[in-house]
Amino acid sequence: MAKAWIPFLEGRYSPTLDMWPIEAKEFNRIYKFYENLREGKFTTTKCKKCGRVAYPPRVICPECYSDELEWIELPNKGKVAVVVEKWGGVPICYEPPLIDAWIDLGKDSPVRHILSRMVNCPPETLKEGDEVQLVVFDVPAHPIELKKETITAERVFFAFEPVKK
Ligand SMILES: [Zn+2]
Repeated sequence: MAKAWIPFLEGRYSPTLDMWPIEAKEFNRIYKFYENLREGKFTTTKCKKCGRVAYPPRVICPECYSDELEWIELPNKGKVAVVVEKWGGVPICYEPPLIDAWIDLGKDSPVRHILSRMVNCPPETLKEGDEVQLVVFDVPAHPIELKKETITAERVFFAFEPVKK
């Protein structure tokens, strides 16, 4: 998959045009989500006190405000419930159409539906009921300063793609 990036910025870092989360654990309390993605696992948080599962992952339970959360795995396959193709008003780093899907992870999943960007599917091909799967890809790294040293923090992000028939 082509990286979503701006050619004249190749090799440079522009914080104002950075479309991706800062994932390094020094700056992000849900960094475990990205670490799990690197292993191909799609995860979220579950409250140890009241059992509430929240997606996207949280640092505090939205139900009881406890910060005692654990990581649980979600299915990495699902079925398209609704698909939306955006041809206009697409953010600067993306080529239209931007395809999003409301994905049904199945009745046994702790989170029934999620919204995700779709990749590796030509426009106007995805339809309700199609099987889709998690795909993890590299996104541009960014520099972070740690103990007076600048290091490059590698990053990943996820989307879903059609399961090949
Ligand atoms: Zn809770």
